This record gives sequence, C-alpha cells and structure tokens, in this order.
Amino acid sequence: MMTVSKYFTAAVTGPISLLKGLSVTLKYFFNPKKIVTEQYPENRATLKMHERFRGRVQLIHDEHGRHTCSACGICERACPNSSINVLVTKNIAGKRVLGKYLYRLDTCTQCGFCVESCPFGCLGMTHDFEMSSTDRQTLNMVLNKSEGPG
Ligand code: SF4
Ligand code: SF4
Repeated sequence: MMTVSKYFTAAVTGPISLLKGLSVTLKYFFNPKKIVTEQYPENRATLKMHERFRGRVQLIHDEHGRHTCSACGICERACPNSSINVLVTKNIAGKRVLGKYLYRLDTCTQCGFCVESCPFGCLGMTHDFEMSSTDRQTLNMVLNKSEGPG
C-alpha cells in the first residue's frame, strides 16, 4: 500500500514528467527542421536506403546491357520457395545459354540465398522500396535483357 509521503512525491513528480515530455513535443512543433524522423513520402526523391537493404533480386548488367549468367541453375536450386526459374536455350553454336531468367517478386522473401549462391556474382538486390501492386502479374519479371551471356 502506498504511504502518504510516496503519494505526495508521485503527485509532484508525475506532472513534472508530463511537462518534460510536452516540452520536447513543443520544441519540435516550433522547430520542425530539427525533426530527425524520416519525412516519408515528402522525401521520396532524396531518400537513400541502407547499403544492405534488400529490395528485389536483380540480374546485374554492365553499361552495355550484358550479364555474365551461365544459366547453371544454382540460384534456382538455392531458392527455398521456387521464386526463380532459369530457362535455358541454345545459341547458334549449340551452346547452352540463358533463355529467360524468371523471377517472382510476389513469393520472394528477400532471403538473399540466390545472391549468395551464385558462383559468378551475377545477382544482387536492388534498393527499390515501392513495389506494391494491385496486379499480381506485374510481380512476375524477366530479369535478363537478352538471351545468352548478355
Ligand atoms: S531472395 Fe530468397 S526467396 Fe527471393 S528469389 Fe532469392 S533465394 Fe528465392
Ligand atoms: S545467376 Fe548465377 S547461379 Fe543463377 S543461373 Fe546465372 S550463373 Fe547460375
């Protein structure tokens, strides 16, 4: 049971603590430039995600639109929920090359296993963060820009 002295102490410290909290609120109210919280979506144009942020899987292309995927299928086997399908074709020399690199963003959990498993460093994660859609079909993507080894 609360003693009389504790009761009066709480009656004094309670409002003091309340006033301290309100002073912080009022400080930011009158100095909005000091707010450190992300002002999303107002800052959309300048917003930078952290280096290790995982948006979606990408097949890395160079400035000429070439990739180095050998269509080995290791990433496909590493994916725990079949979000990747590596479709193979043959080039005019009869060599096995990448036909289509299919990726399903709607089932991908951004675990990164595919990126880590690729022996040639062909895959990465984008920093995209606005990827919601009302049309599920838009979440099925072809990641390679061209057939073959880019
Ligand atoms: S990030 Fe994970 S779930 Fe997504 S495609 Fe790669 S292995 Fe599959
Ligand atoms: S992305 Fe890498 S692991 Fe996946 S098929 Fe291409 S070379 Fe193989």
